[in-house]
Amino acid sequence: MSAKIMIVEDETAIQKLITINMEQAGYTAVCVTNAEEAMQSINDALPDLILLDWMLPNMSGIDFARILRNDARTRLIPIIMLTARADESDKIRGLEIGADDYVTKPFSPRELIARVKAVLRRRAPETLNEIIEIDGLVFDPVKHRIAVGNDEVELGPTEYRLLYFLMAHTERVYSRSQLLDRVWGDHVFVEERTVDVHIRRLRKALEKVGKDGLIKTVRGAGYRFSADIDADRDD
Ligand code: CA
Repeated sequence: MSAKIMIVEDETAIQKLITINMEQAGYTAVCVTNAEEAMQSINDALPDLILLDWMLPNMSGIDFARILRNDARTRLIPIIMLTARADESDKIRGLEIGADDYVTKPFSPRELIARVKAVLRRRAPETLNEIIEIDGLVFDPVKHRIAVGNDEVELGPTEYRLLYFLMAHTERVYSRSQLLDRVWGDHVFVEERTVDVHIRRLRKALEKVGKDGLIKTVRGAGYRFSADIDADRDD
């Protein structure tokens, strides 16, 4: 079955261009023009990925992404933001809100398809079936549940994969580039500082259950997941 790509874009010409390219790449395209229509469609059936325009009438793409990330049913749908804003701070803002990637208009169809493929491939679970517990933090990939006791940790899809990878590979230092390879799967279009954004988000989520200290920053090298309380964390 082909992956279902939802395109939320109010400019008809761009929507058509994306639709044609997604269909040529073998995906099923579902087109809507605003957040309200998108939500109605999502209520009927979940897409496999959302291409979300930043500048939409009524509700902006960024606000809509926030809503999707705060709802358990839609939290893990990958989102690629489409935007005319090339500003670096906007890009970081988009990623911080929970987008998995970010494409600046005008984009080449080839680049967009490559990014869609990369995000879908990342989403594919890599042996996600074993429960891992470290220092009271329990990751249950079957139930999609991360918790300390009864306190659940809510994560977006990238942080979810990142945490699972780190918990499955403790006490080892991974560079940003290695994390991109192992967690993102394809870092042709992803900058290394993207890793820092997601680590920051992951720590923030873990902070709520008092476990953010498990992720250590190793100066000049990368990150390490460790229950060792004496290890350095210098960020
Ligand atoms: Ca627009």
